[in-house]
Amino acid sequence: MANRDLSELTIVEAARGLRAGDFSSRELTQSCLNNIRQKDKEIGAFLSVFQDSALSQADLVDQALANRKELPALAGIPLAVKDNILIHGHRCSSAANILKSYSAAYDATVIKKLRDQGSVFIGKTNLDEFAMGSSTENSAFQVTRNPHDPERVPGGSSGGSAAAVAAGESLAALGSDTGGSIRQPAAFCGLVGLKPTYGAVSRYGLMAFASSLDQIGSLTKTSEDSCLIFRAIRGRDPMDTTSREGRFSQGREMSKLRVGIPQQCFGEGISSEMIKWMKRTIDHLKDLGAKTVSIDLSGLEYSLPIYYVIAPAEASANLARYDGLRYGQAELAESLKETYAQTRSRGFGLEVKRRIMLGAYILSAGHYDAYYQKAHKAKKLIQLEFGKALQKVDLILTPTTPGLPFKIGDRVDNPVEMYLSDLLTVSANLTGLPSVSIPVGREGKLPVGMQLIGPDFSEEFLLRVGSHLEWLS
Ligand code: GLN
Repeated sequence: MANRDLSELTIVEAARGLRAGDFSSRELTQSCLNNIRQKDKEIGAFLSVFQDSALSQADLVDQALANRKELPALAGIPLAVKDNILIHGHRCSSAANILKSYSAAYDATVIKKLRDQGSVFIGKTNLDEFAMGSSTENSAFQVTRNPHDPERVPGGSSGGSAAAVAAGESLAALGSDTGGSIRQPAAFCGLVGLKPTYGAVSRYGLMAFASSLDQIGSLTKTSEDSCLIFRAIRGRDPMDTTSREGRFSQGREMSKLRVGIPQQCFGEGISSEMIKWMKRTIDHLKDLGAKTVSIDLSGLEYSLPIYYVIAPAEASANLARYDGLRYGQAELAESLKETYAQTRSRGFGLEVKRRIMLGAYILSAGHYDAYYQKAHKAKKLIQLEFGKALQKVDLILTPTTPGLPFKIGDRVDNPVEMYLSDLLTVSANLTGLPSVSIPVGREGKLPVGMQLIGPDFSEEFLLRVGSHLEWLS
């Protein structure tokens, strides 16, 4: 281990090394900070870096280790946090101009839980403004590049979190996923990305985008690391009434596993590379003794238009709170109405305005029934269809994305093409089911991710299966 850059370690390896006295948490943290200094000008993963507080958090853990205290698994581990999750006393901008001077007044529940474990918060990462986007190009502040190919996007909206981990600037990171924002960047950056069951993790202190779909989860190098973070952050929280305690299932052994393969994954809109990797993953599963079952899941096709009705509708209501008076900066004008108008027109970016307008239209008196109500009915049908499928099979396999990471600038002027990146991920948000993206291989230098979807609270089972699929080795 002596010659290895400490930032390359997984959480499990680092936790072992810390306890064996091979290195300190300060050294581990410093190795991430060094990478940030050397690489982040190019990569652009971080919006803020907490050098001093991170090193003092690391020192506290080192002291406790020197006193031979038993410490939780994540003690002394450097973590990056998406900049839409509140850390007390630090700026939290959601990569939006309207919040550029907003400082968080409290810790999100997930932060409090990780703080109690002794985790080291290394900084806040870039995202698409208010988590709306699939490439991190919608940030008001900077573009983030994919460490595997800096000409390409890292995915989004948790692109900063994914790039930070892939570049060795942090050992793992937190993200949020409303329609794929953890899984798609994880796939593009060669990481494991977990979107937990809706309600498994408290959303208190997460800036709301679409409240019926939002979940906090992690981006890690391995499934094992993902499990450690999930165990640390899950659970009911009185501050989030949608959060609940789950009955976690361990699922079946690999040799008894039945994996559903939706026919839709070989159809229109899925690239030939993804189909090839889908087939390789199926072969690998069969080698491990699993049985694959072809299923028809039309919900996969219908989820995207439904998502793009429900998500903007909820976003337009949630973002009404940013009027310049309650949070962040106001553009003061002659009248209150004019102040709102000025603040919101200057404070929000193009994509966010597009969603607010779409959402307001969908919720308006003449259109509510035709769009919003109808989308909810369709969502119910998709939930039923997935529920039925998961009675026949233990889990569902799909590619995480329809294609490989695209070039920076390629899709910014074409919102519909950008929305199509979410084709395969949004159904897990509409159904609330847990879902994980696993890196299975590379196409040239670009990572490829496959997605597993399972029944409510099957996270640990999905991650166990995922650990057998990592890089198909
Ligand atoms: N890309 C999707 C969107 O733009 C999902 C975003 C997310 O999961 N936060 O809405």
